[in-house]
Amino acid sequence: MKEKAKKIIYINLDGFSYSYYQYLHRHKLDEGFEKLKKDGIFFQNLHSGLISITNPMQSAILSGAWSNKTRNFYQHFDKEERRVVKHLRTFAAQNVAELFLESGKTVVSIHQFMLENNPCVKGSKGNNYLVAPNEKSNYLDRFTILYKIIKKEPVYVDEKEFIYDEFPDFLALYIDDLDSLGHNIDYPQYPKRKTYHERQKDIIERVLAIQKELVKLKKICIEQNIYDDVIILVTTDHGMTPFYGKSSLNLLKETLEKFDLKVNLHDDLKEDTELVLLPISNECSLYFLKPVSLECMKEIRKKLLKENYVDKVLLKKEMMKKHGLDERGPEILVSAKKGNHFSIKDYLENYSANHDSLDKTSQHIFGLVFGGKIQPKVITKRVTSIDLIPSIIKNNNDLVLRDATNKINFWDL
Ligand SMILES: [Zn+2]
Repeated sequence: MKEKAKKIIYINLDGFSYSYYQYLHRHKLDEGFEKLKKDGIFFQNLHSGLISITNPMQSAILSGAWSNKTRNFYQHFDKEERRVVKHLRTFAAQNVAELFLESGKTVVSIHQFMLENNPCVKGSKGNNYLVAPNEKSNYLDRFTILYKIIKKEPVYVDEKEFIYDEFPDFLALYIDDLDSLGHNIDYPQYPKRKTYHERQKDIIERVLAIQKELVKLKKICIEQNIYDDVIILVTTDHGMTPFYGKSSLNLLKETLEKFDLKVNLHDDLKEDTELVLLPISNECSLYFLKPVSLECMKEIRKKLLKENYVDKVLLKKEMMKKHGLDERGPEILVSAKKGNHFSIKDYLENYSANHDSLDKTSQHIFGLVFGGKIQPKVITKRVTSIDLIPSIIKNNNDLVLRDATNKINFWDL
């Protein structure tokens, strides 16, 4: 007889760069993760995608597909309307919670906002959307909701009480402490810091606290007798890349102007603009308003790669082919060398950080799958975040996401 499908707990720790884990490991602070790895699959070479920003990557993980299916890569420049279009919560691909619900299973989202009303709804028991009662909730508030569900204790939507006598088939838990700290914004107990070195201490403190909760989660699952019946996936949408000082945006503009192009920022378009710059922080997207040959683009790339503030330059064709980028994406994407940036302002006082970067601090991400009956192994092969959920539900539920384009089933590695 086929074994009963396990319950899936998917925890997304927004902004958990693999570099944080490496710090823990180097300083022998990863005792909790080491324990969990003993009944888990640990990914040493897990990667985010394009563009590595929260909403696009959250939807990619939940659907097993990149932006050519989800239609979300944060924003693009619409050449006809001559304006920037933000993708916000656009999520065109089928997600795992939708698939489960259609298959008669129960799903719950705790703060996983990409599932809000898609299909999780506040107050609907079989597809509930739950949030912590306090407005600025952190990891502890959100883990507490999960613990209550496991312990069959009441959870609330407004005044309405819900008790889950049976744990939901799929539960998503979203936690964003590491992302907020990583961006070096003012955060409770942690004011904005001058240097990354100071901030790293704050981040590591929070990673350690979360590590402790994950160990506690295992303990509670064992106490409640469900540990052998769960698969717990812990991963993230992207990492974080610090940068400092003066923006390289003007230098980039000047270099591009050498190609006899009229270059303007997206919010400063002129009648005769030929090339539009659409920067975020670490990356700048280039959109051509006049036809430019592939040869010319390759020349531009060659030139840009010689600039000391440039790390990588991708052309549209390879972004579509290798990274599943939506066809509305830029003709060229320029990623700054770590420490440099293309923001519209300088950061002379305090350092800043963002994750729209091809640097490994943003692309190399944390990933661990654990549970009572999982054969432990360490996967050293390259896996991407869109391989995770499709592999789990194929193996566990024999379900396939409609739009999933992942190529790797990690259980086979
Ligand atoms: Zn994020």
